Amino acid sequence: MTAYPSDAPASQALLDRALAVTPGGVNSPVRAFRAVGGTPRFMVSGQGPYLTDADGREYVDLVCSWGPMILGHSHPAVLEAVQQAATRGFSFGTPSENEVALAEEIVARVEPVEQVRLVSSGTEATMSAIRLARGFTGRSLIVKFAGCYHGHVDSLLAQAGSGVATFALPDSAGVPKEMAAETIVLPYNDIPALEEVFAERGADIAAVITEASPGNMGVVPPLPGFTAALRRVTAEHGALLISDEVMTGFRCSRAGWFGLEGDAGYAAGAPDLFTFGKVMGGGFPAAAFGGRADVMAMLAPTGPVYQAGTLSGNPVATAAGLATLQHCTDDVYTRLGEVSDALTTGVGEALDAAGVPHVIQRAGSMFSVFFRDGAVTDYDTARAQDVPAFAAFFHSMLDQGVHLPPSAFESWFVSASHDDAAVDRVLAALPTAASAAAAA
Ligand code: PMP
Repeated sequence: MTAYPSDAPASQALLDRALAVTPGGVNSPVRAFRAVGGTPRFMVSGQGPYLTDADGREYVDLVCSWGPMILGHSHPAVLEAVQQAATRGFSFGTPSENEVALAEEIVARVEPVEQVRLVSSGTEATMSAIRLARGFTGRSLIVKFAGCYHGHVDSLLAQAGSGVATFALPDSAGVPKEMAAETIVLPYNDIPALEEVFAERGADIAAVITEASPGNMGVVPPLPGFTAALRRVTAEHGALLISDEVMTGFRCSRAGWFGLEGDAGYAAGAPDLFTFGKVMGGGFPAAAFGGRADVMAMLAPTGPVYQAGTLSGNPVATAAGLATLQHCTDDVYTRLGEVSDALTTGVGEALDAAGVPHVIQRAGSMFSVFFRDGAVTDYDTARAQDVPAFAAFFHSMLDQGVHLPPSAFESWFVSASHDDAAVDRVLAALPTAASAAAAA
């Protein structure tokens, strides 16, 4: 297809305005093209697999709002549900039926989840799950894994993935050292390190939190036996296991990563708590945490762990989430798999042909491309990649009308609306982008 010019005057004009009133011109750091350079595109509309920017250029979207848009942009059934809900009112500050229906849908899909509490972001979900785990166990230490991102919760920002990885920050300024000291960071996929830390401090550890299958350092699925070890070791020491499925939930399968790895993966039993977001909000601010009923009973108003939200269970957001999940049928997951198969094959062939070292890793339909040789199993191996080659590849794809995540440390996301025409547009752009990566 015809290449777009690399400059984007209308987006640049908006960025200039934004820079005057917003730090870095963006409301979430990875949206700024800091890691890849250039002008972030200001989008004005989305339809199915396409986004259109302020310069009127159309892109095949492989970010999908960082996960939520699993059915594609402006899906007619979700739009209808949102319009109808908005007609009835925007926010009641009382319970309403859609909240119940959305909770029922989640509980029905993810077998170990008995109860959920709705919140408005993945960050809120993980923050609340951690407070709950601490309240339930009466302990304070939390174990997390380097390269996993769980939102911008103070105690979870140490060696975090996503934007923290993109900008190569060890952690965040502004987190009190006392709070950072409550978090133990371990290498991902390292069972001996986990066993060692529990042998030393097991009686003080409230919970292990892990991305069910990490996607925030690129896609790094658990090695066989790792998930089972997490369950076994936490159970032995009376700590809770929190599986963060904000990214994988309802995307890797109808029951998320749990639906793929399931009982076999967890071996000694399911995680105690889960966190969800992204897909379950259908592009609106809705997220959740949930799990064992006896643990959830510790939450106010039934228990002593406080947690609340003015907009929690918002009627418009829950309508969007419910309609999205109701349309996430088996056919949708089949199509997501087909699109990912086609794209990963195409990317692999193009990079091979151009002689660019790479490894492509997958978790269901989530995948990412590491510009390096050899499998990535943890944050150290994820970081050892050719970021300039990625940046060259990214810009070539963008100029050819393909919108990729602007970071080498993020998953690519597809939707069920990615039809053959959209896939073919991506495939057609790959050889030129691969040559650009080779020349970087
Ligand atoms: N957990 C995971 C695994 C995530 O991927 C994210 C966001 N990318 C979050 C938590 C935080 O969610 P939010 O951005 O909605 O706060």
